[in-house]
Amino acid sequence: MGLKDLFFPDICPVCERLLVRGEKHICTECLSDLPYSYFWNCAGNPAHSLLSENILVESVATLMIYRKESNWKNILYDFKYSGDKSIGRYTSGILGKKMVQGGLFNDVELIIPVPLHPLKKWMRGFNQASVIACELSAIMDVPVAENILKRGKYSISQTLKDRSERSKGVSGAFYVKPGEKIDGKHVLLVDDVLTTGATAKECGMRLVEAYGVKLSFAALAFVE
Ligand SMILES: [Zn+2]
Repeated sequence: MGLKDLFFPDICPVCERLLVRGEKHICTECLSDLPYSYFWNCAGNPAHSLLSENILVESVATLMIYRKESNWKNILYDFKYSGDKSIGRYTSGILGKKMVQGGLFNDVELIIPVPLHPLKKWMRGFNQASVIACELSAIMDVPVAENILKRGKYSISQTLKDRSERSKGVSGAFYVKPGEKIDGKHVLLVDDVLTTGATAKECGMRLVEAYGVKLSFAALAFVE
């Protein structure tokens, strides 16, 4: 045990028990109970239906599905707000492998992370969706395009608003950088979590309406 382990022991974010030798990121017991969505095998899953309300969406996958009060939300919290990129990469790696095995995403040509507003990115130090996108890119062997989809308007933290306010908050917030050649491509839009779908739909609409892209979506969690 090194000095780091003594002062900052590794703890399972789900059950908060100390990790033992051989366990990484999530304890064995929680890992065996991971609330897999199995969406990567299943066209027309609930997340797909949610995003398909206004636009044509090819395929939608998330690693997990859980209710708001579930301890699995700690994974996203540690990743996004405590800056634990390793847990983000680890869970994205599991998702990427499932997506490749499922076969629904095998013709994806470009991965685009949902952008953070530059001010938020500056405060957080990184865009969590980009971390996921990079991990998926390595596993799926598809390039990431970081700077095609842009975010223009600052929006108050999504968590503070109800559903209708959230939709208003993101409306018009995204645009595609002029001159980008993405017409007709199969694009995988990536975010950390899918809740109301407002952000994903807004981004998706920009890509589908203006550029006729074939749109798919992936996130670590679908929150019921
Ligand atoms: Zn655990």
